[in-house]
Amino acid sequence: MDPSSTYRRSNRVVNDPTNIPLRCWAEIDLAALERNLISIQANLPDRIKYIAVVKADAYGHGMQQTVARLMQAGVDMFAVANIVEAANIREIGTGWPIIVLGATLENEESFLFEYDLIPTISTIEEVIRLNAKAKAFGKPLKAHLKIDTGMGRLGIWHEYADELFDAFKQAEFIQLDGIYTHFAAADQDPDFTRYQRKIFLESIKRIDWLPLNELLIHADNSAGITTFAPESVYNAVRIGLLQFGIRPYPTSIFAQVETTPIFQFKSRVGIVKNLPNGASISYGRTRILERDSKIAIVCAGYGDGVPLPLSNRGEVLIKGKRCPILGRVTMDQTIVDVTDLEEPAQSGDPVTFIGRQGIAEIELKEFSDWANTISWEVLCSVTKRVPRVYRTAIQTG
Ligand SMILES: *Cc1c(COP(=O)(O)O)cnc(C)c1O
Repeated sequence: MDPSSTYRRSNRVVNDPTNIPLRCWAEIDLAALERNLISIQANLPDRIKYIAVVKADAYGHGMQQTVARLMQAGVDMFAVANIVEAANIREIGTGWPIIVLGATLENEESFLFEYDLIPTISTIEEVIRLNAKAKAFGKPLKAHLKIDTGMGRLGIWHEYADELFDAFKQAEFIQLDGIYTHFAAADQDPDFTRYQRKIFLESIKRIDWLPLNELLIHADNSAGITTFAPESVYNAVRIGLLQFGIRPYPTSIFAQVETTPIFQFKSRVGIVKNLPNGASISYGRTRILERDSKIAIVCAGYGDGVPLPLSNRGEVLIKGKRCPILGRVTMDQTIVDVTDLEEPAQSGDPVTFIGRQGIAEIELKEFSDWANTISWEVLCSVTKRVPRVYRTAIQTG
């Protein structure tokens, strides 16, 4: 399939003002993103607000297109890592509250007011700093207080949370808008996750002056909602990976949530050639052929986001069949064994690194395992040389 006819090329691609056909690209199905969102929302109680986590260029899917589609599809809020990402969302559409999940540096503070953003506050020092800033601007600032229940990253350690609540109470210009925590092992350890929930709720219940009905109380990331208790105090979830169709933990609520992966990573065969038994392959000569072979040189390498650990280990799809990677992955090219294909591979043939070809599929999880990493990192590691192309609403109905 020629992607340029079915998909609209991203406008975020730099140095490519031409119509030169693509040799390595990521195909993103925005209609599937919308279906995933609707499916997740349908499985959560109505009162639960959906905070779409779109940090790191929407997990590599492209901030512009992903956020625009999520706005249209009905998310309640967005969460990003920093103020630059938040400012990008403001350029796409107004009206959606945006939470900045990372810490706000002192020299970034004024932009919270300029772009109307909600910072995460973890320390008393931050309350004092931001309160002074808000006072200077003459404008109250909404903020979310974060409690560390076992992640050991942002948030105040739960045993010391009372002091931070006190600081909020005294800060006239800071308006407590929400309280949250983050799970450390929601995809691996449901017991620890339940323990984190327990101490999070205890930390909140100790504070008698909180207007709980007016606050956003949230903890759940994608895997978190496997232990979600619908009757609980939570009224929002923060979903990243699952909306892109990747399931971090296939039990409980995921059994009903139907999602499909929206991301495919593709390239093309450059040349096909014959090599004799005994020939060596790629840098370092880590592979010596043990038979007369037909190899395909694929037009993508680690410069595109094909991880080096896939050397002699990963597979790709060509002509709907799995073909093993031979030798080391190089910056721009990857060598693949096509000897066993019934239908011979040819220059220009589509190659799938992640995604589907006919009934064959390489899932992101399998690709990530070959690379000794996690799905989140793979999505963030497809480089900016790789254009993101989008299935539009019109084309998929
Ligand atoms: C990234 C992130 C999320 C989303 O996590 P997923 O596992 O991708 O759903 C939620 N909350 C915080 C604080 C995050 O950093």
